[in-house]
Amino acid sequence: MSAVGPGTFRNESYREFSLRENSDSMRDALQRARNSFGRESDLRIAGDACKGGGTFASLNPSRPSEIVGIHQSGTVEQACTAVEAAHAYFPEWSATPATKRIELLLRAAAIFRERKSDFNAWLILEAGKNWQEAEADTCEAIDFCEYYARLMARLAKPEPLVQMPGEHGELQYLPLGVGIIIPPWNFPLAILVGMAAAALVAGNTVIIKPSSETPTIAAKALDVFLEAGFPPRSVSFLTGSGATIGDALVSHPKTRFVSFTGSREVGLHINELAARTVKGQIWIKRVVAEMGGKDAIVIDADTDVDLAAAGVAASAFGYQGQKCSACSRAIVHEDVYEEFLRCLLPRVEKLKQGPADEFGNDMGPVVSERAMKGILEYIETGKREGRLLIGGERVAREGYYIAPTVIADVGRDARIFQEEIFGPVLAVTKARDFNHALELANDTEYGLTGAAYTRDPQKIRLAKEKFFVGNLYINRKCTGAMVGAHPFGGFNMSGTDSKAGGPDYLLQFLQAKSIAEKV
Ligand code: NAD
Repeated sequence: MSAVGPGTFRNESYREFSLRENSDSMRDALQRARNSFGRESDLRIAGDACKGGGTFASLNPSRPSEIVGIHQSGTVEQACTAVEAAHAYFPEWSATPATKRIELLLRAAAIFRERKSDFNAWLILEAGKNWQEAEADTCEAIDFCEYYARLMARLAKPEPLVQMPGEHGELQYLPLGVGIIIPPWNFPLAILVGMAAAALVAGNTVIIKPSSETPTIAAKALDVFLEAGFPPRSVSFLTGSGATIGDALVSHPKTRFVSFTGSREVGLHINELAARTVKGQIWIKRVVAEMGGKDAIVIDADTDVDLAAAGVAASAFGYQGQKCSACSRAIVHEDVYEEFLRCLLPRVEKLKQGPADEFGNDMGPVVSERAMKGILEYIETGKREGRLLIGGERVAREGYYIAPTVIADVGRDARIFQEEIFGPVLAVTKARDFNHALELANDTEYGLTGAAYTRDPQKIRLAKEKFFVGNLYINRKCTGAMVGAHPFGGFNMSGTDSKAGGPDYLLQFLQAKSIAEKV
């Protein structure tokens, strides 16, 4: 067990693609993935591969004429069967020693590590991530497995308690039961693997319901769990419409918890549905919901403005702004407002946009036609709400490309200041002073990430005290949380503050039993 002690965790290092061996490995993997484009995947219910009530295709957002994979539309009946089967297997899986579950998770980490380039390739081709963003997603999935394995090793040991005279007291952490794992498409590997790994290593049985934008990546991740030796009955896999099978999974009486990451709208719906007690249900369902953001970077007059502009550009346009942590508001002290814009715009102009599989592109497409239309509508609104400085349109080529867009002079009541856009659109707002900037940054119903750039220690203290977000960064960008270093989760409408990749994360998938024995 010492090999997995909490002190032994190290983040997986990112490979450098300027090195020939790494770029060759990626090119081979992209070719391998392309060679299996269009293959049909099955549902997996308690070990049985089966077809759904129909099929749907997932597309390459860089070139939507390419079908990446064909997937099953699971039915409500299949959702119910999956929950019943997971419930039936729970006693056996939960009784499997934690050491065994930890061993399987470490084996899964090793397989993901071996197949880094292949997973990167699927992330590039199905989610439109550029090479570096794909590498970060895959490495994060490995980190989650390694980190949660170590956390479970800690929780499996007896918790020290105050011992009463004449008694022996102990506290045991027990798994909950059947968990529904609902990840988004934007970190289709890391978030799916992190949520599933945490629940499984804690001894729960799970049903993974991936996003319909990225089901191929999800199916490949399931293969790894099974190859690592997780019993097929411990993990089922159901693709299909969130609204139909999602609702059936969440509302089933045997469902014990839901681990969701996605939009505010769907998260709140799940929370409400899970709160309704149905016939045959004997517990209060637990909901872990991580949702959207309207993340701000605050820029003080007393700072290196160019450095701040670099941080804003990276946070706003990395993965086309499709990160819950993306900076969508730059709130700038009026004394450096114009200077900030002068530093920012050349950086945005320089961003190279094109197909995600071509190495060297900074930005790829947004994930789908639907996402593209929604973002373009916001841009039209933004043009009325502020001053368009750059971008503001679709890029004329096959694929869902939107030019990186900066809209200045945006007021606090503007929709593009308040609503999550989830695309490459940055609103810039002028603040009277640092206090006013923090007040504007907090003027949102979200509270996920934020950053402040200032040299003044007093203002750093103020930001730490007043900036109401789950993940605050000082003098650096607001994206790129690392497992173990930046436990991740939001305040307010950004979620239940679950702090993925943090020391308390697994407790959400466990219940503690306190035992006192008279001796
Ligand atoms: P989404 O809410 O549309 O979908 C998320 C998942 O929910 C998908 O798997 C979808 O199929 C499923 N779903 C949809 N309706 C459902 C229902 N009725 N019942 C059960 N499941 C249902 O979100 P998305 O577009 O996939 O992801 C983008 C959103 O995720 C953004 O808002 C982003 O900020 C958020 N996000 C948050 C975090 C975080 O850690 N806070 C991380 C990544 C993404």
